[in-house]
Amino acid sequence: MAAGLASARDCARLLDCLRGARAVVVALLDETGGLRDANAGFRRLLGLADDGPLPDACAPYFLAPRLAELLAVLPDAEGRVYAGILNIGDPERADVSLLGSIYRKAGGLLLVGEYDVVELGELNTRILSLNEQLAEAQRDLLRANRRLQENEARQRALSLTDFLTGLANRRRIEERLQDEFLRSRRSARPFAVIMSDIDHFKLINDRYGHAVGDRVLQEVAARLGRNVRDCDLVARWGGEEFVVLLPETDLATAVEVAGRLHTALAGLQPAGVDWPVTASFGVAAYAADADGYAVVRRADHGLYRAKEAGRNRVVADDPAGTLPPG
Ligand code: GH3
Ligand code: MG
Ligand code: MG
Repeated sequence: MAAGLASARDCARLLDCLRGARAVVVALLDETGGLRDANAGFRRLLGLADDGPLPDACAPYFLAPRLAELLAVLPDAEGRVYAGILNIGDPERADVSLLGSIYRKAGGLLLVGEYDVVELGELNTRILSLNEQLAEAQRDLLRANRRLQENEARQRALSLTDFLTGLANRRRIEERLQDEFLRSRRSARPFAVIMSDIDHFKLINDRYGHAVGDRVLQEVAARLGRNVRDCDLVARWGGEEFVVLLPETDLATAVEVAGRLHTALAGLQPAGVDWPVTASFGVAAYAADADGYAVVRRADHGLYRAKEAGRNRVVADDPAGTLPPG
């Protein structure tokens, strides 16, 4: 609309034509950003009365792009320095967007633009509501993410737990075994392993049925769990075998703990079972073993010897002869 205007008179004529128009914005600025003249639409933009004085400088009202930027731009062939969305208004109030162009004309700047307050209002409302929907969607996503993480944690806990006894399962203790092995190798402080196996368990199953066998397994598990430190880990290794991992524990102490567990199981006689349940124990402590499993194998060797010697006892695997005799 303003491309063909060459002189200050042309610009002034355009402004006069549109002086009373409220849906279009026309303003003439001088080289320094001082306001020479403006129509009703521009007054409305700034929140000014139709017949009141115009402000001298309008730089504060040019929120985006800034007036200083516009004054620095070289005009194109049509004299235009800007075309697009303009944010102009009182910086204290919400700024208003309008579509317009700014030309370098007649020794100053000519601003022409148009806006529809109703449409802009609706647009703003739509944008606000979209923002709210977006925020709600983000909250939903966060909630879903949290649920997913909780589920994963639950799944992982389940995958590391023995469902019958609630103890750690073999997978869980194998993970810890590797950790303890690495720690002991680094610190030269031993960890110990106790391996326990219920004596003649097959007889219990055969005579009283699997359900009674299961109850015995649960009770043995509970008694083992109650008689170790919080930092120790009791796991069901498989069938009627249990493994206890004792961090920072030497062989002599582990043998004491195994003795305590042995005593804790003594007297376990489920209702209807004709003999007290007993278990055998093998004990070993880390001593420059090649890996964690080597310590378990040595505990298992102690267990084997306990069974050989008549069951219902504790036998340590003590290749270095560190334990006092007896
Ligand atoms: P030993 O004193 O030599 O250890 O003899 P045992 O009878 O305890 O050992 P054996 O290996 O012969 O039998 C173990 C039995 O444990 C056989 C198997 O059916 C039973 N068993 C393994 N897992 C479970 C289980 O989850 N529940 C029940 N009830 N029995 C199980
Ligand atoms: Mg067994
Ligand atoms: Mg057994």
